[in-house]
Amino acid sequence: MIVMKFGGTSVESAAAIERVAAIIRTQFERQPLVVVSAMGKTTNRLLAAADKAAAGNLEDALQNSEELRDFHRREAGAVIPSESRAAMEAVLENHFEALETTLQEIASAGQVTPALWDEVSSYGERLSSALVALALPNFGIPSVHLDARSVLVTDSRHMQALPLYSRTYARFKEKAAPLLQGRVAVMGGFIGATAQGETTTLGRGGSDFSAAIAGAGIEAEEIQIWTDVDGMLTCDPRVFPGGHLVKNISFAEAAELAYFGAKVLHPATVLPAVEKNIPVRILNSRRPDVPGTLIHAESVRCANPVKSIACKREITVVNIRSLRMLMAHGFLRRIFEVFDRHRTPVDMVSTSEVSVSLTIDQTQLLPDIEAELSKIAEVSVVPSQAIICLVGDALRETPGLGARIFTALKDVNIRMISQGASLMNMSVVVDGADLTRAVGALHREFFNELDPEVFQ
Ligand code: ADP
Ligand code: ASP
Ligand code: MG
Repeated sequence: MIVMKFGGTSVESAAAIERVAAIIRTQFERQPLVVVSAMGKTTNRLLAAADKAAAGNLEDALQNSEELRDFHRREAGAVIPSESRAAMEAVLENHFEALETTLQEIASAGQVTPALWDEVSSYGERLSSALVALALPNFGIPSVHLDARSVLVTDSRHMQALPLYSRTYARFKEKAAPLLQGRVAVMGGFIGATAQGETTTLGRGGSDFSAAIAGAGIEAEEIQIWTDVDGMLTCDPRVFPGGHLVKNISFAEAAELAYFGAKVLHPATVLPAVEKNIPVRILNSRRPDVPGTLIHAESVRCANPVKSIACKREITVVNIRSLRMLMAHGFLRRIFEVFDRHRTPVDMVSTSEVSVSLTIDQTQLLPDIEAELSKIAEVSVVPSQAIICLVGDALRETPGLGARIFTALKDVNIRMISQGASLMNMSVVVDGADLTRAVGALHREFFNELDPEVFQ
């Protein structure tokens, strides 16, 4: 058995679904469990409709829902065989009627509560999975729909739920694996449900995580993440388009890159794969013949110390300075407690005897955090910064890297530096306006020559 996950762009249109079917057909013998994201930009559109409803603009929100219904009918309708047209209309009717009710609830609540956020954003994957399951027989692939909410059991942390692993794995074994006899099962990524049946989601980009959970649940021999790029590249193509394909990467390297912004993989994806030692492949659904990236337990020897450069934009640096820190203990704890109380994750930290600098990317509660910290220290906030993170297993044993990084960045103002405890990443914070220039310079420094075993 294998898991094949197709992201939003891979199922965005009739033509895309046809490509997906062709890819599944070639691997039908491997008993695929197919995981799909919402079609195209559906999740964003659902959330935009929710915001309109919350702002009292229910009419506009319902109009958006109608547009989404037309979009799904048009694209899926072009690939669903005529004998399943009535089933397709029933899927659309049920889901859009329920979506309208959810939008009305949001309008009466006057806000999108976390539970309503999950409810409204879940329709994307509920629709895409049901529709793709109806379309596959048109391409000679027998298929069945699997409601992710009946197998992926999560805690009740809405918008960022975590699976209850043992229950979830038991359900996958009991309900999903037996479906894969002579047909594929199609389930939506991103969504799950609590043990009480309340819909939850795993957070934005969570379909990759669903695929890995499903893979561990059915003990798949491989988890394939089909997307719109050739695999993990040496840098984010939207920041610097000249990157190369990384053919091999370790779980630890991939996790680090995902965490520091390589959107091609959701950061939690590797956890279930590591636990069951299942290789993960990233592949391009528009170019299925490209070998893609293989993520696995072994680290392949590589002549280049850096495998890839990840970056995160719109980062805020918080500088905290207090002479009371000098020789004192417990000060860092007090600082971090403030972030903890305001449920704001901290990414990077660097400290000196009297100051701490740290980065956050959620700033909704920053004014409260600043007010609290100001009682114990001087606080300054620098918005619009970017983290650049160089990742590679071999970083820890390569001398002279610091010199190469600083020389490459000699014309860029570096605000913070940190080396992760894993010793396989080096991160710097620069002004957002310098990001492209800085990444370009680092890319030229570290990928001028490429180890052909690892890069293509
Ligand atoms: P999907 O909808 O298939 O899940 P995503 O948009 O979530 O696709 O992820 C793919 C995108 O990730 C790419 O189009 C690319 O812009 C972005 N990306 C960021 N960093 C990297 C990287 N290092 N390698 C490849 N893609 C990256
Ligand atoms: N559809 C969800 C999102 O847009 C999940 C995913 O695509 O992975 O965030
Ligand atoms: Mg994604």
